[in-house]
Amino acid sequence: MLQLATQIVLVVVGFASNAEPPTNIVLLEPSAVADRDGPPRFTRVVDAARIEAVRGWLEHSCARRALALYALAEDVRAARDASYVRSPYPIALVPGGNHADAGYVEVAADGSEVHHDEPFIKLDPSAESFGRTFLHETGHVALGIVAAERGVPSEPLASIPHTVTAITDRSTAFNEGYAVHLEALAVHLGEDPAAGPRDRHERMVFGSDRAPESEYFRPAIDFASYAQPRARYRMVRDGEFAFAPAACDADYLRAQLDPARDGASLLTPDQMIASEGFAASIFFAVALRGERVPDAATIDARERRMLEAAAAMFAATSADPHAPLLVDWLIACIQQGPAEEARAIADVALDRSHGAFVDVEAAQLWRATYLAALTLDLGSFSSPTVKRARTTWRERVLADPLVLASRLGAVVPFYVPDVEIAVVAFGSAAPLSFDVNTATEGVMRCIPGITTDDEARWIDERARHAFESADDFVARVAKNAPFAAKLEPGVPN
Ligand SMILES: [Zn+2]
Repeated sequence: MLQLATQIVLVVVGFASNAEPPTNIVLLEPSAVADRDGPPRFTRVVDAARIEAVRGWLEHSCARRALALYALAEDVRAARDASYVRSPYPIALVPGGNHADAGYVEVAADGSEVHHDEPFIKLDPSAESFGRTFLHETGHVALGIVAAERGVPSEPLASIPHTVTAITDRSTAFNEGYAVHLEALAVHLGEDPAAGPRDRHERMVFGSDRAPESEYFRPAIDFASYAQPRARYRMVRDGEFAFAPAACDADYLRAQLDPARDGASLLTPDQMIASEGFAASIFFAVALRGERVPDAATIDARERRMLEAAAAMFAATSADPHAPLLVDWLIACIQQGPAEEARAIADVALDRSHGAFVDVEAAQLWRATYLAALTLDLGSFSSPTVKRARTTWRERVLADPLVLASRLGAVVPFYVPDVEIAVVAFGSAAPLSFDVNTATEGVMRCIPGITTDDEARWIDERARHAFESADDFVARVAKNAPFAAKLEPGVPN
């Protein structure tokens, strides 16, 4: 920090007289006029030292990628919509700021006000937040731009804010998964200097005088930031979020936050598309697939096609927050062609999901494959049956990409008013809430009075056919069961 401060002072001495922000951004800060109800109010930053500090932070390779992504999203939008007017990227320097939003009021020096509807980003004025946070939040801004007037849908269902390890809801998983894949990509390409010591475990220090970075804390340190930066890279890269959480005791936070997985147990398709980690692993693989790390031009071209497919998907689907966005997006990518690209993306979808989207037998086939590997039964591990199944999956998806949506059910939320889930640092609690088509065992077990028979019936019935409605769930699972008295249909207010 001291070094940074020295740099800023030196820069200011040289350029203070004519500092202007770069032309591709609008640099804002909170207005002295207090926010009223409605959108936040900002003024343009005019302080030369501040502008020069931001110029320095924008040299971070994550920041450069973020600015390029913003321009790319505007290109994609403009290609579909001749009336779209490009504008520089609004960045509001707000202490503690770390998220994207849309709509603000700009207060001019003479007190006049201009309303803006476009997406903008709130960022803490620090070098750190212009790294991966800026890139992640720009992912949300980019999706907001290509979603156009329709917007990215949102209806949070979970009892906790989203996080990479959790199963939350379909629109959160899509939006966050897209943003998280950009972070994973930056780490993979060595564009984030902070990633080496932290995420790639280059620093290994021991001893009680080195808290909290000492190895003593390591198995739990990822939770301490809530963002789980290690899981955001390693598990996304390796596709581990396709599997059920290993923690399945009656403990909501362990079931949702612990990254440990049961590698033999595939999630269901409905669970996969409500997992931001799974969504991130799909986006990451679409961008980086291949025998070796693709060159920069290939990655840029793939990122462009990903946003084009997102724009096409948003234009074609309703604004229903329960729409299966990840699968709709994969279908749009495959339909976009050309044939070679369609085949590569079908392979990503099928291998990352281990066939779960298209084959009711896929989970069993994967379990057998996993168990064969444990016993070094290599004949069964890579058997003709597995090869035949995978070939058939690909043929079916290429013949009709809509088959990827064939096993998805509805979203059927319930909550338990009596059970509150609290994360100490967030200072508030929320009722236990879940979609009965995606709840994991650990979440089910948090419902007071539920028995192992109830859980087994829930899982069996769901596997037979996803629940179509609250009534369907009650009729098939909860009728006459004491735990049903604790449940309320819908999302808590
Ligand atoms: Zn986010």
